[in-house]
Amino acid sequence: MGMLKSSVAFLVLAFAFFFCYVMSSGSYDYFQFVQQWPPTNCRVRIKRPCSNPRPLQNFTIHGLWPSNYSNPTMPSNCAGSEFKERKLSPKLRSKLKRSWPDVESGNDPRFWEGEWSKHGKCSEQTLNQMQYFQRSHEMWQSFNITEILRNASIVPHPTQTWTYSDIVSPIKAVTQTTPLLRCKFPPKSQTKSQPKSQATSQLLHEVVLCYDYDALRLIDCNRTAGCGNQQAISFQ
Ligand code: 5GP
Repeated sequence: MGMLKSSVAFLVLAFAFFFCYVMSSGSYDYFQFVQQWPPTNCRVRIKRPCSNPRPLQNFTIHGLWPSNYSNPTMPSNCAGSEFKERKLSPKLRSKLKRSWPDVESGNDPRFWEGEWSKHGKCSEQTLNQMQYFQRSHEMWQSFNITEILRNASIVPHPTQTWTYSDIVSPIKAVTQTTPLLRCKFPPKSQTKSQPKSQATSQLLHEVVLCYDYDALRLIDCNRTAGCGNQQAISFQ
C-alpha cells in the first residue's frame, strides 16, 4: 500500500514538473509577425505623447510573437535567457534601428528587450536571441507593406476610408497568404468635431503576417480580424 502511495505521489510530482516546464518554456504553433503604423501609435497615446513629434511614415516591427491556435495571446513571459544587447552584432543593431524602432519613447534597445522578454523567450528553442532579431528584420525586408499599399493607391489620407478587404487584397496578392489587420479607435476627444462618417471610423494600426513553427514559411493567418469588419478604415 505504502509503495502504491509513493508511486502515485511520484507520478503526480513528475506530471506537475512536466506541466510547469511546458508552461514556462512556451509551446507554440506558429508566429505572428506584427508590423505597426507609427502615426496610429502616436495618435492614440494622448496621455504620454510620442517622443518624436513627427512619427515615421512607414510600417515598422512591433514584434514576432510565437502563438497558439487555441489562444493566440499565449504563450508569453516564458522562462529563457535574459536580453543582452551585445548578443546582437553592431550591423544587426543598425538594421534594427530602421526596421524595429521604438516609435513611442525612442528607446530602441528597451523596446527590443521588452519584446524578447514577453515573446522571444517563448520560442528560444527555435530562434536564439540573435536569430530572433535577424529573422524578424528579414521578414520586414521581404515584404514592404508600405510599398504594397502605396502601389494599390492606399496612402495616408485625412478623410478617405477603405474597407477591410480593400487593404487585405493587395497584401494577399503579393504574399499569397491571408494577413490580419488590427485597428484602433481614435480618442473621443479627437473625433467630436468630425462628421459622423469619420468619427466612427477606425484607424489602421497593425498588419500581421503569419509564419509556420520554424519562422520560415508564410501561412494564412486564421484569427478573426482585429478591425471591425463592417466598419470603414482610415489610414492617416
Ligand atoms: P506586446 O507587449 O504584446 O508586445 O504589445 C503591446 C505593448 O507594446 C503595448 O503596451 C504597446 O504600448 C507596446 N508598444 C507598441 N509599439 C511600441 C513602441 O514602438 N515602443 C514601445 N516602447 N512600446 C510599444
